[in-house]
Amino acid sequence: MSAERLAELHGELSRQYEEVVQEHLSLDMSRGKPAPEQLDLSMNMLDTVRSDNLHDVEGPDVRNYGGLDGIKEAKVFFAGILGVRPSEVMVGGNSSLAMMHDTVARALLSGVYGGEVPWMKVPGIKFICPSPGYDRHFAICEHFNIEMITVDMLEDGPDMDAVERLVREDGSIKGMWCVPRYSNPEGITYSDEVVRRLAEMKAKAPDFRIFWDDAYCVHHLTDEPAELANMLEACREAGNPDRVLMFASTSKVTFPGSGVAVMAASERNLETIRKQVSFQTIGPDKINQLRHVRYFPDKDALHEHMRKHAAIVAPKFDAVLQILDEELGGREIADWKAPKGGYFISLNTIDGCAREVVRLAGEAGITLTKAGATYPYGNDPRDRNIRIAPTYPTLEELKKAMRVLCICVKLASIRKLQETGA
Ligand code: PMP
Repeated sequence: MSAERLAELHGELSRQYEEVVQEHLSLDMSRGKPAPEQLDLSMNMLDTVRSDNLHDVEGPDVRNYGGLDGIKEAKVFFAGILGVRPSEVMVGGNSSLAMMHDTVARALLSGVYGGEVPWMKVPGIKFICPSPGYDRHFAICEHFNIEMITVDMLEDGPDMDAVERLVREDGSIKGMWCVPRYSNPEGITYSDEVVRRLAEMKAKAPDFRIFWDDAYCVHHLTDEPAELANMLEACREAGNPDRVLMFASTSKVTFPGSGVAVMAASERNLETIRKQVSFQTIGPDKINQLRHVRYFPDKDALHEHMRKHAAIVAPKFDAVLQILDEELGGREIADWKAPKGGYFISLNTIDGCAREVVRLAGEAGITLTKAGATYPYGNDPRDRNIRIAPTYPTLEELKKAMRVLCICVKLASIRKLQETGA
């Protein structure tokens, strides 16, 4: 494009941008929160547990202390979802992120099953962080001073050549974060081949663990759910049965903050973890676990419920994708994927533009996740990834916000092209 044409376009887009700034919008696409209508779907769950129906539960009294790893029915429920045995399940409190944080903390302080020393006794321990990824995973590492090694996400999961080499050669690599299904933010599901290689690869650290955060295991947006191979089974078959620690929760199934979190792992892993957790708590909120299992008596009930979520969420994803297509399609200034589940759409600008786009959008009243947040240390080496969270705004707000975002992408791209003369 000639310099004159670029200048002309720049003028036009600057005018469009100034116009939207004058609208004083205030729209938030920054965090993956369910919309109020989604929360309404679970209101009846609150009526499943009443003062007159708490006594007729089999087993220990859910009103009292005890049951460190959850009620039996909840273990069976989550075992069914994750494809593991109930004896491989530990049902916890309200947050899987808290469970992951505490699992890392316990590994640092007390070690994991089969480890010779607590992780903190090993100088300079590291985690592999497929990126773009979930900012709060990276924040846990940063908080505990665990060095993060960025590995690229490819179309079907992390770059396994890089992962295999790193884990084979470096014994201070103790962990790896994975969001294997409808990944945050790209919506990628790991292929069978990636799952197999993760399970089979040689690890120099005998106490290496994969933190398998299957947060979006039931969050499908289409009638063709992504199939994810069973990682615990794959690890068992590969002779590395203790390698994986799986996590999930009902935060985005029922109520974020009042859901139920779960960890699944080999029985040996769980035995060690239960001992450690017994110093931390006398037991989780069993009444909330009971609410959940009563509301979801079987898998069908859960999937029916998730279809209702999808009916609200999918049109929002469609709107985002349609506007991206209309405004940015075929212009070689951005690319994105169309996820079949999960909570996010990941937008890549041309290199060096993401921060500027997020800044421009912010000044026009559109809040986006901070640029760089999807990379360790908040540092996107190409400064190009932007995470869009379409669920919380209304459809109308979302469409408005997306139009503004696209103006910002175009404006930042033109300025970059003018600057680099590309
Ligand atoms: N893992 C991932 C990948 C997430 O996206 C989120 C929520 N944004 C969480 C975990 C947090 O889950 P919880 O509410 O169970 O702590």
